[in-house]
Amino acid sequence: MHELSICGSIAEIVTRRANGRPVDTIHVRVGQLRQVVPDTLVYCWTVVSADTALDGSRLELENIKARIKCRTCDGLSDLGDYPIMLCGTCDSADVEVVAGEEFLITALELAEV
Ligand SMILES: [Zn+2]
Repeated sequence: MHELSICGSIAEIVTRRANGRPVDTIHVRVGQLRQVVPDTLVYCWTVVSADTALDGSRLELENIKARIKCRTCDGLSDLGDYPIMLCGTCDSADVEVVAGEEFLITALELAEV
């Protein structure tokens, strides 16, 4: 389950950044192409953070829709639930991904002390 290893990386980064201060909410931006199941990620977080300094903190996910840009006609297309790498305007397969591969921690809310 790769959500578990993702949570491990988040915990590592957040622990370093919080530097011992209690953390309330961690905002994470996840692109659609990362194939992350949000519910699974949130569940794994409770497992990974249990009995650590991050116990009780929660993940707030922001999902980014995948979007491709066509090299043939310059058209932008949003990908649906089943990502198919074809231009929505001219059906060209010569496309590049411009959004949807994000995975980053955008903000950290510290708990009131
Ligand atoms: Zn096109």
